[in-house]
Amino acid sequence: MSAVRVRFAPSPTGYFHVGSARTSLFNWLFARHHGGDFVLRIEDTDVERNRDEWRDGILSAMAWLGLDFDEGPVLQSSLFADHVAAAEALYAGGYLYACDCTREAVDARREGSRPGYDGFCRERGLARSASTALRFRVPENGETVVHDLVRGDVTFANASYDDFVVVRPSGVVLYALANLVDDRTAKITHVIRGEDLLPTAPKQVLMWRALNDCAGVEPVGVPAYAHLPMLVNEQRKKLSKRKDPVAVESYRDQGYLPEAFVNYLALLGWSPRGGEEIVSREVLVDQFDLADVSHSPAFFDVQKLTHLNGEYLRALSPEAFIEAARPWVAPWSSPWRPATAPPWREDEFDPERFARVAPLVHERVATLAEVVPMVAFFFTEVDLDAAAFAKVIGADPLGQTMLAVAIERFGELEWSRDELHAATAELGGALGLTLRKAQAPIRCAVTGSLVGPPLFESLELLGRETVLRRLRAALARA
Ligand code: GLU
Repeated sequence: MSAVRVRFAPSPTGYFHVGSARTSLFNWLFARHHGGDFVLRIEDTDVERNRDEWRDGILSAMAWLGLDFDEGPVLQSSLFADHVAAAEALYAGGYLYACDCTREAVDARREGSRPGYDGFCRERGLARSASTALRFRVPENGETVVHDLVRGDVTFANASYDDFVVVRPSGVVLYALANLVDDRTAKITHVIRGEDLLPTAPKQVLMWRALNDCAGVEPVGVPAYAHLPMLVNEQRKKLSKRKDPVAVESYRDQGYLPEAFVNYLALLGWSPRGGEEIVSREVLVDQFDLADVSHSPAFFDVQKLTHLNGEYLRALSPEAFIEAARPWVAPWSSPWRPATAPPWREDEFDPERFARVAPLVHERVATLAEVVPMVAFFFTEVDLDAAAFAKVIGADPLGQTMLAVAIERFGELEWSRDELHAATAELGGALGLTLRKAQAPIRCAVTGSLVGPPLFESLELLGRETVLRRLRAALARA
């Protein structure tokens, strides 16, 4: 067993989101940096909210991101017996006591003072029954220190914690204990997780120490903790699963590269000492250090992620770019496909033509999904954008004239980008148009829109017949 053992312990209760991906990555980086073990434990004990598809989503997102684990997936639900045994040991050791207080009774005693449990049953010596919960006896005085590698030692006054429930009357062992028992069993040395769990940490440290003290329990060293800073949105509010675009799956679907995504996630709360932004996986593994993780919330900035993805895309070789775009442009020949299919049919798509078109858009896209609308006109008839058509053809007599003269000239010239370019410049010049203005109606008629890949290369690739047909059709509509 390695000296460093970390775990990622997601609950499969929803889409795998960027915060979980960041936690998973930081655990993975820490394990790989130290040559340690990375354990995946699926915390599937919330039967009402768990779904198999969420669990599969976690596994496929981790595979996509290249976060391989050395042990697991361990299902927490298979470890119930350990949780119960730990609770029994704590009870036998006097660390838990039976309590039959209802919430109403506690509230009534409190009469509006601080909410929470008042310790009513602490010294009552109640016998356990089907209507008693088991509560942990939190020391009244003193402090509990959570040794946190990000925040330093975080000290909590024990008095600020009520005696909390560990086992429900139904016998269900609550999460805080189950989670630490599994960490003990797995000999986890470092618990790296989101900051939202920091308030749970002192309770876990207390229970961990208590267990070490119980008869028949093998003592295990308390792990070091690292609570990672929260991810926030533009308004500096905690990322919301409902309002913010947080599902990792949707980024895969839009055509972010896993390497770019990993690179971006690594920068959420951590930065390499040199401050550079493009950092390869090898360098991340080499440089990752929890001591460099920041305390302040990290802004999940989709724009920055998109920019970084564009950089990664541009760094691909032409062949690698074509291969990366395959799920979007030719989903039928790809093992994985995004949710949205391209607007062309398989028999309309020509891979050789795509290989020639791809270099025209390679520099112009920031995600792979953006390739599809940009190249659609090469493979299928596209609708003319109504506003663009009105602007440069419908409501512009010069645009219509430009189309008419182009139809005539394009019918006879030698079909090459240079000739097309020269002819458009010359015809436009005769009408007093700049090259840009002269191109606009042609681009609109042939590609459907006013933006897209370089025009003359596109016309050359499309071929005379298609170009002329589209120019005539657009003119006929004017
Ligand atoms: N299952 C917990 C969650 O998804 C994580 C617990 C932990 O990392 O300690 O929030």
